[in-house]
Amino acid sequence: MHRLPPEAAPLHCGVRTFALSLHATWRCRSSLRCCTSSWPIPVEPAVRRRIERGAARGALGLDEAAAGALPAADWLVQRSRRRWLATADDGRCVFLEDRGSCGLQRGLGETAQPVSCREFPRLAVIEERGVSLSLTHYCPSAAALLFDALTPLTRVTDAAAFPPQRAYEGLDVRGVVAPWLRPGVWLDPEARDVFELQTLARLDRDTSPELALAALRAGVVAASRWRPADGPLAAHLERALGGAEAATADDLTPAAAVAALRAIDACAPRGLRDAPVDERTAAAWAAADAAGVAPAWASFARPLRAWLAARLMASWVLWQGDGLLATVRALELGLLALRALCARESARAGRALDRALLTAAIGEADLRLVQRADPRALARRASAPWSA
Ligand code: SF4
Repeated sequence: MHRLPPEAAPLHCGVRTFALSLHATWRCRSSLRCCTSSWPIPVEPAVRRRIERGAARGALGLDEAAAGALPAADWLVQRSRRRWLATADDGRCVFLEDRGSCGLQRGLGETAQPVSCREFPRLAVIEERGVSLSLTHYCPSAAALLFDALTPLTRVTDAAAFPPQRAYEGLDVRGVVAPWLRPGVWLDPEARDVFELQTLARLDRDTSPELALAALRAGVVAASRWRPADGPLAAHLERALGGAEAATADDLTPAAAVAALRAIDACAPRGLRDAPVDERTAAAWAAADAAGVAPAWASFARPLRAWLAARLMASWVLWQGDGLLATVRALELGLLALRALCARESARAGRALDRALLTAAIGEADLRLVQRADPRALARRASAPWSA
């Protein structure tokens, strides 16, 4: 379940959807990862009232609820002024039934579920042009597509996984003056389109994710110097991004990777953060990186670039950061943090990076970037100059 900030708002269906090509065939395969992960699922006031009414009349699809009223204390946790669904000690949501179904959905229908439950693993930005969508790969079905879907990395409209007739909920940016080329310079819709399509094309063709990001950064830095005398912004951006190349990229060091992970974790509200990575753990991860991650990293270039493309689509930093460079920095931070998590998985498993370990690391990276990090804090972090 991803957290939705207060500005999240529903969009009622019927507009176009835009998504990453490799997500086009996603469908839920009932892994139940989302209902057994002990993460905080916010309960919106209207949902709370529906559950209370359903529980009072024993209408939830739970055995204990069917026997009588289910007191709120059994399913609702209050922290400060926010309310969350309770989870059992093993991390299962209290509404998850033994048969693997959701007691809320079965008893009261999909609209009685918290927004996060209804939307997971979808991530949406509701724009004037339609709804931009991506997926969090904390969902195993979504993660598998990074490896198995061999379609070129591009943007598709009205894909089977994202039908326009569905109502999506997410960050509503309709009427918002954003995104920005650089602070104070608005990126018009045509230029925003160029940025998205050129970045996907770059991630599709470059061999290394680091080189792709280095070239993207060079192109964005060049494009950010635009002045009205340079002519239409979209054409300027297309030239800058299309012509940018990078012969080398900064080394992806274990120290920089851990620093990025710490920076992302610091964007989560207190109480949702893991214990900071201490120096002893960082040293163990550095050893695991040298022994088992660095040698295998290049062989996973394609799923890594696909993951970056997924983090670009429906990026909230694009809308909440102060310029295109912030979006690039968020991708750089994400890739570094993912490298640290690969080292963590490799250290824990005692073997070199393989598909299973990379899948676990990607799921953990998305958990931290998409589910836990406060989107505005992440956008502020990415808007500031970054160095490890
Ligand atoms: S409310 Fe239903 S969908 Fe949401 S976490 Fe609980 S069981 Fe899963």
